[in-house]
Amino acid sequence: MDDPSATLADLAARQAQQQPDAIAIEAPDRQPLTYAGLHSHLMQIGAGLLGMGIAPGDRVAIVLPNGPEMATAFLAVAGVAASAPLNPDYRAEELEFYLSDLNAKALIVGSTLDSPARDVCKKRGIPVIELYPRTDAAAGLFTLGNDASPASVVFQGTGPDDVALLLHTSGSTSRPKLVPLTQANLIASAKHISQTLRLTPADRCLNVMPLFHIHGLIAAVTSSLRAGGSVICTPGCLVPKFFGWIDTLRPTWYTAVPTMHQMILGRAETNKEIIARAPLRFVRSSSAALPPKIMAELEKAFACPVVEAYGMTEATHQMACNPLPPLGRKPGSVGLAAGPEIAIMDDGGTLLSQGATAEIVIRGANVTPGYENNPAANAAAFTNGWFRTGDQGYLDEEGYLFITGRLKEIINRGGEKVSPREVDEVLLEHPAIAQVVTFAAPDARLGETVAAAVVLKQGMNLTEEQAIEFAGSRLADFKVPTRVVFLDQIPKGPTGKMQRIGLAAKLGITGAPAPIAAAPVTRALTQTEEDLVA
Ligand code: AMP
Repeated sequence: MDDPSATLADLAARQAQQQPDAIAIEAPDRQPLTYAGLHSHLMQIGAGLLGMGIAPGDRVAIVLPNGPEMATAFLAVAGVAASAPLNPDYRAEELEFYLSDLNAKALIVGSTLDSPARDVCKKRGIPVIELYPRTDAAAGLFTLGNDASPASVVFQGTGPDDVALLLHTSGSTSRPKLVPLTQANLIASAKHISQTLRLTPADRCLNVMPLFHIHGLIAAVTSSLRAGGSVICTPGCLVPKFFGWIDTLRPTWYTAVPTMHQMILGRAETNKEIIARAPLRFVRSSSAALPPKIMAELEKAFACPVVEAYGMTEATHQMACNPLPPLGRKPGSVGLAAGPEIAIMDDGGTLLSQGATAEIVIRGANVTPGYENNPAANAAAFTNGWFRTGDQGYLDEEGYLFITGRLKEIINRGGEKVSPREVDEVLLEHPAIAQVVTFAAPDARLGETVAAAVVLKQGMNLTEEQAIEFAGSRLADFKVPTRVVFLDQIPKGPTGKMQRIGLAAKLGITGAPAPIAAAPVTRALTQTEEDLVA
């Protein structure tokens, strides 16, 4: 489809004109919202915001629970100004940082949310706009408190170079960086994703990703709107409800992070009948490495292709994706460039030839113009017009990208580099192991050593010694974990991704040698026990 839309507002207006009665937004137990309904809601809310004194270029923070109003509030704000969705779980201290770093002009907060954001804004003199969901009306419709009459100034509209979305990097070791993404960045990425997945107006995406993260906002919401399809906005990845949603809302695809896929897989067996009658065309995974074993199990369980994509906030999400059939998808690879150009660059800025392993770099219409107010970060991130992703990888002879690790996460064991992903994949081969995260543990002699946190499968048991022995039979000595800890759940970040950096400290692992557990650790025996643990 040729796409003359330059901004998100154009995109919604165009769909409303072409297919006014088609469904844009849905949610469990709510009436659907058509494109005509969405467009008029965005116009009305946009006018209301302008009436409150919000002008193009202003930043409006949004703190809302996951759901259809978060999707429409993002679109409405981005239609007239710059939207900045924030994690509704942030505490006061975090909100202080994010709201001041953003230089927020106003905050939109869900009326039902008990968030410290209101107090923080009061203290900082930032106006608070309450959002009241219209639960009796179509999904995504809401009213704004202190709604003013539309502004008398003529609104010229937003342009492709205006900032539409502001997000912070997750930065687990350093201060999060502010990533501005323009209307053109968002439109380009939505187009790339809908083309890669061959989305049509008949497609229905089930969104389980948080909508304060780029993955949900772009891969689920914006790409669906670009294709004229529907997006079903759930409250989040509530695994016990997942198969009920699949059955009643009949999505043709869903996208999630690997930890969510693994939780969903855990219930696939007991929901076989629902899966058999589900119209799923494919399943998409992104934002963290999908172990090939999990990909194979997902494909078997859902009887449809599972495509792994490579995404990043600074790239407005998608950079590469495995193609759908008839082209081949390669387990362990994040697929072909799917939007930006992709190359491999050494430390000195030289682009390397196919097969060489070094830093993955990108350039193209979906890449941020640069971090805000951060010349040092920009100088480090951009080399000769290429953006350095901080990820390490190589391109194979067919142009498929393989990620070998995150440069910052590579474990440096006395000079010997260990890719934690490689150790994850080996341990996952053990029949008792359901999930693994390998990480660097401090070591008095070597600086860092290899450790792994493991979640066992239901009813299985394993000792630390047995896990280490298993890894030792498949990996070179320097890559074998010296510690394996057993957990009920892998600690995850707010977007559901496993967090390797800082995990040793979180688990209280110091440089001192630990006693080897003698008794085997046993996992919850039944689904009920598992739910209780969760
Ligand atoms: P975010 O900005 O939160 O989307 O995180 C971006 C980072 O997630 C990337 O730089 C990668 O380190 C990681 N990532 C995203 N997709 C994948 C993938 N399919 N495989 C491995 N790592 C990934």
